[in-house]
Amino acid sequence: SMKEAEKYIEDTYAKILKSDPDQMEFLQAVKEFIGSIEPVFTAHPEFIQQNILERMIEPERIIQFKVSWMTDHGEVKVNRGFRVQFNSAIGPYKGGLRFHPSVNQSIIKFLGFEQVFKNSLTGLPIGGGKGGSDFDPKGKSDNEVMRFCQSFMMELQHHIGPNLDVPAGDIGVGAREIGYLYGQYKRLNGSEAGVLTGKPVFLGGSLGRTEATGYGVAYFTDKMLQDTKNSFENKKVVVSGSGNVAIYVIQKVHELGGKVIACSDSDGYIWDPAGIDHATIKQIKEVERKRISEYVHRHPKAYYYEGSIWDIDKKYQVALPCATQNEINGEKARKMIRNGVIAVAEGANMPSNLDAIEVYQEAKILYAPGKASNAGGVAVSALEMSQNSQRLSWSFEEVDEKLKNIMESIYIEVRDTAKMYHMPGNFVAGANIAGFIKIAQSMISQGL
Ligand code: GLU
Repeated sequence: SMKEAEKYIEDTYAKILKSDPDQMEFLQAVKEFIGSIEPVFTAHPEFIQQNILERMIEPERIIQFKVSWMTDHGEVKVNRGFRVQFNSAIGPYKGGLRFHPSVNQSIIKFLGFEQVFKNSLTGLPIGGGKGGSDFDPKGKSDNEVMRFCQSFMMELQHHIGPNLDVPAGDIGVGAREIGYLYGQYKRLNGSEAGVLTGKPVFLGGSLGRTEATGYGVAYFTDKMLQDTKNSFENKKVVVSGSGNVAIYVIQKVHELGGKVIACSDSDGYIWDPAGIDHATIKQIKEVERKRISEYVHRHPKAYYYEGSIWDIDKKYQVALPCATQNEINGEKARKMIRNGVIAVAEGANMPSNLDAIEVYQEAKILYAPGKASNAGGVAVSALEMSQNSQRLSWSFEEVDEKLKNIMESIYIEVRDTAKMYHMPGNFVAGANIAGFIKIAQSMISQGL
């Protein structure tokens, strides 16, 4: 019954709250998840009997290790490395590595937890994991980044493999870092392209992987808008961030007819009423590795402001948060709605906190959680794994077409699942339930 399901969910949450009381981000991700899955447990008492929720919230394995490395000046530094192998019910662990000073076990666990359901939604056979380090690549030389990656892989090599665990990039880890990590893996273990994804194309990477997360967010949002007889045409769009996700969101939104008027980095944001030029952002962030404030020197009609982009006071209709977790709270969400926002789709993982999600839902705007709308990155990672196993490579057009189909299928599945469980329009519930059921059934079929 509904009462039993509610009690089971509450008791399970109380237990993890007791085990890890200070893992704020992880607890938040779990809370968001369980807030919408009661109807599944009411409909499937066998999931309660199998204690499937607690089995899903507990990571299969957590690896923590020391990474020592030397700066260009001969100083010896120590950082912490992590890999959380969360759930392998439907395939090898799959998920990115994040290099950022904020990284700790709670952050890697929240990312790994969300990855499990995201990967399930792609429809491809990949389990969920995540890893990273509190190493800060900002301000480090190329050689320092290389030495750090080599030291990191010295330990990580023991825990990964094409059929075991396949890392990729996330914040602070792009093609450069994946190249260094892969080079080290190869020196130690020989060629094995399928052990990492997001590789540079000449090392067995997939065409379209760099663009995939950003393009995927734009395809998903386009589909969501069209479904409500709307489109990107004549829409002003705000995109937070200016990294790998944001850059390709901006490019694709422009191709689809929208106009991105602002984007940001961790210091501030730029407003360009003529529309942000994605090529300039790419040059500044990817090639020169400078701050976003640099943009106004190259586009003198644009403005730079310090502080959060979500404090912007302009009219716009679509918000695409592509920076990091918890960038939007309740107050910023209310401000968005006052500015005219009708749709939010997340390119980052958990950029909206629980209050913000409540604000979107009360205002009845379209809201796509990251585990659905940003699944394009990991989906193309899975396509990279397929190409590596087949020892061939698909054209950019072929990969892009597959990505588009995957994003549209995810949208339809999420929408229809929400409807089926009597929460039409609630894409949080749709994504959580659709992702969850496949994992639950797969776990039960494999026995305890
Ligand atoms: N870090 C990305 C994500 O959050 C991609 C992971 C991957 O390609 O394995 O989904």
